Amino acid sequence: MTAYKIQEHKYDMIVVGAGGAGLRATFGLAQKGLKTACLTKVFPTRSHTVAAQGGISAALGNMGEDDWRFHFYDTIKGSDWLGDQDAIEYMCREAIPAIIELEHQGVPFSRTEDGRIYQRPFGGMTTHYGKGIAQRTCAAADRTGHAILHTLYQQSLAHKAQFFIEYFALDLIMDEEGACKGVLALDMAEGTLHLFRAHGVVLATGGYGRAYFSATSAHTCTGDGGGMALRAGLGMQDMEFVQFHPTGIYGAGCLITEGVRGEGGILRNSNGERFMERYAPNAKDLASRDVVSRSMTIEIREGRGVGPHKDHINLDLTHLDPKDIHEKLPGIAESAKIFAGVDVEKEPIPVIPTVHYNMGGIPTNYHGEVVQLRDGNPDAVVQGLYAIGEAACVSVHGANRLGSNSLLDLVVFGRAVANRCAETIQSGAPHKDLKSSACDQSLANFDRLRNAKGSMPTAEIRNNMQRAMQADAAVFRTGETLAEGVAKVREIHASFADVRVSDRSLVWNSDLIETLELQNLLGQALTTIVSAENRTESRGAHAREDFPERDDANWHKHTVCWADDAGNTRIDYRPVHMYTLSDDVEVVPPKPRVY
Ligand SMILES: Cc1cc2nc3c(=O)[nH]c(=O)nc-3n(C[C@H](O)[C@H](O)[C@H](O)COP(=O)(O)OP(=O)(O)OC[C@H]3O[C@@H](n4cnc5c(N)ncnc54)[C@H](O)[C@@H]3O)c2cc1C
Repeated sequence: MTAYKIQEHKYDMIVVGAGGAGLRATFGLAQKGLKTACLTKVFPTRSHTVAAQGGISAALGNMGEDDWRFHFYDTIKGSDWLGDQDAIEYMCREAIPAIIELEHQGVPFSRTEDGRIYQRPFGGMTTHYGKGIAQRTCAAADRTGHAILHTLYQQSLAHKAQFFIEYFALDLIMDEEGACKGVLALDMAEGTLHLFRAHGVVLATGGYGRAYFSATSAHTCTGDGGGMALRAGLGMQDMEFVQFHPTGIYGAGCLITEGVRGEGGILRNSNGERFMERYAPNAKDLASRDVVSRSMTIEIREGRGVGPHKDHINLDLTHLDPKDIHEKLPGIAESAKIFAGVDVEKEPIPVIPTVHYNMGGIPTNYHGEVVQLRDGNPDAVVQGLYAIGEAACVSVHGANRLGSNSLLDLVVFGRAVANRCAETIQSGAPHKDLKSSACDQSLANFDRLRNAKGSMPTAEIRNNMQRAMQADAAVFRTGETLAEGVAKVREIHASFADVRVSDRSLVWNSDLIETLELQNLLGQALTTIVSAENRTESRGAHAREDFPERDDANWHKHTVCWADDAGNTRIDYRPVHMYTLSDDVEVVPPKPRVY
């Protein structure tokens, strides 16, 4: 093995990832006086959060009656009762100050006539526990993520956090007691290795949409944090729950925000029928995403899809006022033009359910501390390790996330982790020496991949994985497709031992980086499909045709799935938190989920 020189850095806290979650944590930690560095593989404002269009939820009640308790109820129902109710209470209550704070920090929200933050309706967001439609989603036109990300980056710079940009985190460095002591990273421009020692490491590495063939997420969404956690021997939670967004542009995969339906857009089949009226008589086009995606899939299967292959659905905006489209949805009109060649004022947009969000991830409590099932304790904290944002599973989204609840999750738990660390970590405390072998395992893996001389190029293995996941871990699942999918993904995972990397350099080596990303993706794909096969019920985004009902007696529990390098997997379950943080907030017991 090559002998690598490693440069060492010491901080109080390291944040891996500079999306909304990572930046909120970074500036919060710096603001609290902890010496903080943020590592990111892409320039901060290029993180996937920049693409979020529709908005961020909070029961401000600016455009009609609202209450955070309604939001709490909607989120639990949206999660199909798999969300942890203590965490959901925390998020929905904290949403209101979190939005006001964002506004004060400089997010240019759209405004109402009287100058308040503009709020639009979003799927599954109601008043009076399902009776009315809430206008709860705060928006900066259809570029909300862009506005938030830029503001948080400015705040991080203002608070003197340090950035290591275009650094690729390879692995967590854990000590013998299982505590996290830092991360090993590659400076992609210089080709040098760096050990970042810290009292705490926050994983904010985003989702793993790219395990699938067609996804709305950026090419950089490769589940690196989850890959690092698996290699550190940690289990991943609720991976079988993958959200398909109803309206990805047919063929291109780019997102058309749910905000379009919030502003009055309508889904129509080949008969021109507004079919959502049949599936969700009350919420119609604004039912929860899993419900709308399944309804569209049924319409297509029953022969009422549009286009020459009858394989997609129309999203109609032609009845909307062009002035509203220009003011509230300018980016959408542009995307539809570029990616579908459609003028939204005159023609419908061709859309299809597309992979969009990962409800599963690294399990944490509502402070952002990573938890594991250990010696009978389902909530054992992993010392020194935190996870937030889409990389984490708090779990506030349970089996299905409501639109506009993710941006909220980023800022609420980004802030929570900063507050927690300020309480528990002493700035400037000395770092104990690590064993000289602390980085050996990670270095060996890195060196093996760098010199991989197998017969399969990275792109071929990735393509195999993406197609298998798309086909077998889809909107609808059966025991048969899942068993076939598990066998395929296991085989593809094993084929990684035969990967070929052609470029041996360390500087700007995209072949190597994509191979490291693929290794992470493979772990996410494997845990996803194995967890899905095991869960013999339908809940939220996990829809089994052979088990169409939710089965609370047997399955009201979180999946935890471990996978090692060799592809061995193990599954266990932890209880859902059916308790709240305050005496005056009542637990919402499971009920049938109808919209
Ligand atoms: C097109 C689109 C539109 C959306 N619209 C909305 C919306 O309107 N409302 C809403 O609530 N949600 C929306 N979502 C979901 C939401 O935007 C995402 O869940 C959220 O932005 C994820 O943020 P994050 O901070 O967890 O990760 P990301 O924004 O994905 O950032 C991940 C960060 O991790 C870094 N990173 C990853 N791996 C490594 C590594 N190995 N080393 C170093 N750095 C690494 C990256 O450089 C990046 O900075 C949307 C998602 C998509 C894809």
